[in-house]
Order: sequence, then structure tokens, then C-alpha cells
Amino acid sequence: MIGQLETDILPKETADHFHQSDREVFSTNSIQRTEESTVDDAGNEQHFLSTKIPIIRDNKLALIGFSSEVTEIYKMKEQFKRLANTDYLTNLYNRRYFMEQGEREFSRAKRHHNPFAIISIDIDHFKAINDNFGHPAGDHVLKVVSKSLQNSIRKEDILARIGGEEFTIILPETPFENAQILAERTRENIQTQFISYQNGVEIKVTVSLGVTLITPEDINFDAVLVRVDDALYNAKSNGRNQVCSL
Ligand code: GH3
Ligand code: MG
Ligand code: MG
Repeated sequence: MIGQLETDILPKETADHFHQSDREVFSTNSIQRTEESTVDDAGNEQHFLSTKIPIIRDNKLALIGFSSEVTEIYKMKEQFKRLANTDYLTNLYNRRYFMEQGEREFSRAKRHHNPFAIISIDIDHFKAINDNFGHPAGDHVLKVVSKSLQNSIRKEDILARIGGEEFTIILPETPFENAQILAERTRENIQTQFISYQNGVEIKVTVSLGVTLITPEDINFDAVLVRVDDALYNAKSNGRNQVCSL
């Protein structure tokens, strides 16, 4: 390596990043700690934690750097992050992630005056499914309904399981009408589906849905949640298996 440049031995992007942190050492004359990533010959990502220290050699400023490979720790960190945001049963996002993203979308919508819609979905008489077919069957229904919801959304929509048999979809930059159409199509899809369980058991479920749009009058994200809850409550009290908007 002696006499070679970073760009001779590393991909340009990585070399630039290395070079940048070298320059920081010289311009600040202080220790720099950075995370660096490369891809090895087999195409696997590798992660390093690097410390670069300025030293004086022959009256010139030089540096000495140490890199430790931390790929395993990096992967574990990513895994923990994913687990913290994921519902264990359905693999959808969980309530925690939903709240985080909802707050974020809310601020963004306020700033840019973009509308965004929220759909709240609750399985009808779900307790009866557990009672009639058993808890594992109920779990199976939750997984199938989750899949079906997942298939009906766009990739920018955020679908979460926020409670036992309760789901929410955040639809960024979505007009009210489109959200209502999606809610109605979702209701129909689930209503017409037979969910097969062990020993030829077929289970049918319906869902009730609430839809609302964020308005400039909403003071915070909680206000939106209260309204979508009220809409869902209306759908329940009007007889279930329907969409109500507020
Ligand atoms: P409604 O139409 O009013 O929504 O009636 P419901 O029976 O769906 O509502 P309720 O809130 O009375 O019951 C929800 C049930 O969901 C009760 C609870 O035991 C069940 N449940 C919650 N989480 C899970 C789960 O992870 N797996 C299973 N199998 N059941 C669950
Ligand atoms: Mg329910
Ligand atoms: Mg419920």
C-alpha cells in the first residue's frame, strides 16, 4: 500500500469518505472517530469503527489511524432497531413506530400544507373467533388479515398493528376520496375472503373502518387520532362491516 492513494485501493466513495476524515484530523488537529463501511470482494458489507489521531513527525503533521471491524455489532444494532419497531405476530410495524411516524407526517403535512389521511381498522367480533375456534386460530386470522392489508397499500403508506385486532394505515399526501376508496376496497376484500385454518376449517371475518384527513385546524397528531377513533366508533355502532368518515 505504501505510496498508493486511497483511490488506488478502495472504491471511490469509500476513499472519499476516508480522505475526508483524514482532512478533518489535519484541519482540527484533534482525534476523529468515524464509522466507515466497505464492501468486500464477495459483496458483503463490512463496517469499521475508526479512530484517527494527529501526530507530529519530523516537524510535520501526520496521522495514525486504527480501524476495528464492527460488522457483527452493527448488524445487531440494526436488528434491535427493526425488532423495536416490529409487531412480533404479524411482522407489521408496531404502535411505537406508528406514533413516531404519525408525529413526523403530521409536522410535515403542517409545514407543507399537504393533506394526509389515516385509516383505522378493527376486526368485528374478534373475541367470538377466539371463543369458537381457539386462540391459535385467532392468531392465524390476524396474520392473514395483516397480509391482505399489506397487499392493498402503496409502498409509502405505513401500516401498523396498534393493538390486539386493531390496525392503522398512514397515507401520506393522500386526498380524502382516495383514502375512502382504499378503505372501502379493503373492507370488501376482507369480507369476501375465506380464511382457511387447520382441518378444513374456513373462517370469515369482517372489519370496520374509520377514515379521516388531517386538517389545518388540527393542533396535534392526537387530535387526528381522536377523530379517526370516533369515525371507527361510528362504523361499529352503525352495525359494523362498514367505512365511516369524519
Ligand atoms: P368489536 O366488533 O366491537 O370490535 O368486538 P371484538 O370482539 O372484536 O372486540 P373486543 O375488544 O371485545 O375483543 C378483542 C379481542 O381480541 C379480545 C382479545 O382476547 C383478542 N386479542 C387481542 N390480541 C390478540 C392476539 O394477539 N391474538 C388473539 N388470538 N386474540 C387477541
Ligand atoms: Mg374488534
Ligand atoms: Mg378492538
